[in-house]
Amino acid sequence: MMKEDTIVAIATPPGRGGIGVVRLSGRDAIEIASQLIRPAKAPPEVQRSALGKFMDPHTGKVLDEVLVTIFRHPHSYTCEDVVEISCHGSPVILRYLVECCLECGARAAEPGEFAMRAFLNGRIDLTQAEAIRDLIESQTLYQARVAATQLAGSLSARLKPHKQALLDLIARLEAGIDFADDDVDVMDWEDLLAQLDVIRADIETMVAGYAYGRIVRDGLRLSVVGRPNVGKSSLFNRLLNMDRAIVTEIPGTTRDLVTESASIGGIPVHLVDTAGIRVTTDAVERIGVERTHQAMADSDLRLLVVDTSQDWTEDDQELLRKTRSMGSLLVCANKADLPERTSKAAIERAILGENGEAPAQVVVTSALTGQGIEELRDRIMEVAGAVNSSGQEGELVTNLRHQQLLKESLAALDRCREATKQRVHHEMLLIDLYDALRPLDTITGATDVEDILGIIFSRFCIGK
Ligand code: GDP
Repeated sequence: MMKEDTIVAIATPPGRGGIGVVRLSGRDAIEIASQLIRPAKAPPEVQRSALGKFMDPHTGKVLDEVLVTIFRHPHSYTCEDVVEISCHGSPVILRYLVECCLECGARAAEPGEFAMRAFLNGRIDLTQAEAIRDLIESQTLYQARVAATQLAGSLSARLKPHKQALLDLIARLEAGIDFADDDVDVMDWEDLLAQLDVIRADIETMVAGYAYGRIVRDGLRLSVVGRPNVGKSSLFNRLLNMDRAIVTEIPGTTRDLVTESASIGGIPVHLVDTAGIRVTTDAVERIGVERTHQAMADSDLRLLVVDTSQDWTEDDQELLRKTRSMGSLLVCANKADLPERTSKAAIERAILGENGEAPAQVVVTSALTGQGIEELRDRIMEVAGAVNSSGQEGELVTNLRHQQLLKESLAALDRCREATKQRVHHEMLLIDLYDALRPLDTITGATDVEDILGIIFSRFCIGK
């Protein structure tokens, strides 16, 4: 179904470029374009590009030489008639072309409105719409690859059999209740439990995979901690040199502490500089230290750097204690190229002496020679949980919205399993089953009771 109004927007980024594209979508898209563009030869056919001239409707003068591509519904990005006009990339021309389209009856598109129309017209589901956004925002090729497989519908495809199974269960229970006199075969308890377990196991795996998925999507926050002169900046630079694909800064309150972002193995790593850590009585400095502590606590992983050419100090011990209490920790025994005063074994003993909950590994490095940097890089990915154990990139849950909905579904499945074990009335089970199904439907954007009714009637042939 084509919407009434036709929307228009510049589809290319702001600024000057080789070309700039104005996109129209809606019922009058082709009509509006034909008022403004005079084709060089014949008008373009379906999904063909044709050369033309953008004529100023006010003066009749040629403003630009353009390429017009027509996508007739439903074979277009939005499923509506779409016209893409490629101009030379002058912001002035592009803006004027949009203005002319508005005068001809188009409406300025809202952010994301083209993708939203693709969703409303049923060409893509919500996860795919979200993947478009992720793809555009990806900072590394690896992120782009994950987004691209989601754009192809991989997450929805993984959810589909579970939704179907839940619908089947609901249909059978609904039939048992509403049409109890009709002698419909309702499953037994063990069968129900077994089916719930299958769904539950996979959704639980997906929920667990978010730890990695989140890191792929948002990047890893790594704070580098240590006494002055132990080699934090040097290690930092070594890590950055591994892969020069520099990515953008991340927003947030601790932004001023993030000195660099880099890509390690295709995953963006935001390095948080915590050089300012020390005990102080100065009020202003205390705020800085406070903020640094916050950044350390907010990090996915802390890297404590120790200088092995020096003796182990009270400060090292204090930093070890503090960082261990905050979560994942990796200790870097740096300056291994120099004569040793503190051994790896001594550091491991110091770690054992602290009763912190989190495990800590020690990696021997030299920022000077590059020794151990490769291992450090591997350990960082490993300890932070940034290693994809499933090996299935496309089905990764990278989106917080999806994660929360999956958790909701999981909780409902658990309630349902408990209720099943206690042999409660089917009507109560149905509440849990609906609660488990609804979030999955919300993930793909297809919350529809009609589905359930359809299954009841098609499967059980009631109404005989
Ligand atoms: P930070 O204060 O912890 O950031 O330490 P820096 O990275 O600025 O390093 C302090 C000094 O130690 C510099 O002179 C570095 O060149 C030196 N340094 C850093 N790492 C190593 C290393 O692995 N071996 C040696 N020999 N010197 C290092």
